[in-house]
Amino acid sequence: MIAGAGVVGICCALALRRRGFSVTVVDPEAPGSQTSSGNAGGFGVTEVMPLSAPGLLWKVPGWLLDPLGPLAIRWRYLPQLLPWLWRFVRAGDAARVAHQAQALAALLKPTFDDYAPLLQAAGVADSLISEGALTVYRDRDAYRRDALEWDTKRAWGVRCEELDGADVHALEPALSPDVRFGVLTPDWRNTVDPFRLVTALAELLVREGGTLHRGRVVDAESVDGLVRSVRLEDATRVALDRLVVAAGVWSKPLVRRLDSLDVALESERGYNTTLPAPGITLHREVIFAERKFVASPMAMGLRIGGAAEFAGLEAPPNYARCTALLQLAQAYLPGLRTEGGTQWMGHRPSTPDSLPVIGRSPAKANVFYAFGHGHLGLTQAATTGRLIAELACGEVPSIDVQPFAVTRF
Ligand SMILES: Cc1cc2nc3c(=O)[nH]c(=O)nc-3n(C[C@H](O)[C@H](O)[C@H](O)COP(=O)(O)OP(=O)(O)OC[C@H]3O[C@@H](n4cnc5c(N)ncnc54)[C@H](O)[C@@H]3O)c2cc1C
Repeated sequence: MIAGAGVVGICCALALRRRGFSVTVVDPEAPGSQTSSGNAGGFGVTEVMPLSAPGLLWKVPGWLLDPLGPLAIRWRYLPQLLPWLWRFVRAGDAARVAHQAQALAALLKPTFDDYAPLLQAAGVADSLISEGALTVYRDRDAYRRDALEWDTKRAWGVRCEELDGADVHALEPALSPDVRFGVLTPDWRNTVDPFRLVTALAELLVREGGTLHRGRVVDAESVDGLVRSVRLEDATRVALDRLVVAAGVWSKPLVRRLDSLDVALESERGYNTTLPAPGITLHREVIFAERKFVASPMAMGLRIGGAAEFAGLEAPPNYARCTALLQLAQAYLPGLRTEGGTQWMGHRPSTPDSLPVIGRSPAKANVFYAFGHGHLGLTQAATTGRLIAELACGEVPSIDVQPFAVTRF
C-alpha cells in the first residue's frame, strides 16, 4: 500500500507494480490534486545546489522586509518553525553543502531515464518542452554574485551556456532590455500541465493493474516489528504486506506514529498565477535569479510563481503574494497582461538540507518512506519510485540512499 497519490506516490506505485507487487494507493483526494497539481512543471535536473548555502543568512533580513521579496514568515508561526530554521542554517555550511550537492546530483542524474518509459506508456511523453531553462540577470555582475551556485553546477557536470544580452533577447524577445545577461541550461525540461501528467500516470497505474482508493491513513497496527494493517479515517482497516509513506508534507504525523521520529519537514508554501492570455510568449521556463521567481509556459497559459512562505498547514493563503509576483514579472516582461489569472498556493514538503527522505523505516522493516522533495518533487518522483521498488525487492539501491535516511534529523 502507498499512502499518498501525489506525483511521488503514483511513481512509487508504478515502479512497484512493474516489479510485480500488487499495489493500492490510498489518498483522501484525487491523484495529483494537491501540491503536484499547480507547480511550475520544471524537470529541474540542473538543481544540484541546496537552498541553504554559505552567505544566505545575510540576505534573509532584506528579503523579509521587502513586500515583493521571495521569503515571508508569519510571525505567529515562528516558535514552531525555529527548530527547522536552525537546522536549515546549519545545513548551509560549506562541507554540508558539498555533501548535499553530491547527493542531489546522484539523484537527479537518472531523472529522464526513469521517467521516459512511464511518460511513454502514459501517452504524455510529447507534452514536454525540451528547450532548457533560461536563468536571467540584470547584468554579469549580478551573475557573479551567484558564483558558488554556478560553480557547483558545473562541478557536477551541469551544462551551462553563458549568454550576453543580445543572445538572451534572441531566445526570449519578450524580456525587458534591462535583462543583459543569462545562462541557458539546455538539459532542463518542462511539462505543460503537471496535473495532467500525474493524472495520466495514475490512469496508467490502473491500466497496469494498480488500485486507487479514497481514504486517509490515520494509524497503523504492528506485530513483531512489521506493520500488518492501517486504519483509515472512516475506521476501515486495510491489511498490507508493505507500506510506502508518500504523503508529501502530510507525512510528518505518519512518521511520528510509525517510528516515533520527529522528522524535520515543513510546509514551504509557494504561490503562482496562471495567465490565460498573457499577451507575450516565452519558449521555455525563465528563472529570474535576482528576484527568485519563475515564468513557465503551460498549456493553459503562462504561470508566474515562486516565493517561500512559512506559515504552516492551517493558515489561509495570502494571495497578495501572487499579486506581488505579477508586479515583479511586469518589470521584467513589459508586455505582460495580468488579467483573468488563476491563483494557486501549494505546500512544498521541505527538509532543511534540501534532500528528500527516501528509505526504509528504522523500526518497521516493511515500511518505506518517500517524501520531503521540497522544490523538486516532480523532478525526483520517478527516480524515487525506482529506489523504493529496489528497496522493497531487498536489493542494494542503485543510488546510495544513506543521505536520504529518515534518521538524519
Ligand atoms: C509554487 C511551487 C512550484 C513548484 N515547482 C516545481 C517544479 O517546477 N519542479 C519540481 O520538480 N517541483 C516543483 N514543486 C515541488 C513539487 O510540486 C512537490 O515537491 C511535489 O508536488 C510533492 O509531491 P508529493 O507527491 O510528495 O506530494 P503531494 O502532491 O502533496 O501529494 C501528497 C498526497 O498525500 C495525500 N495525503 C495526505 N495525508 C494523507 C494520509 N494521511 N493518508 C493518505 N494520503 C494522504 C494528499 O492528499 C496528497 O494527495 C513546486 C512546488 C510549489 C509549491
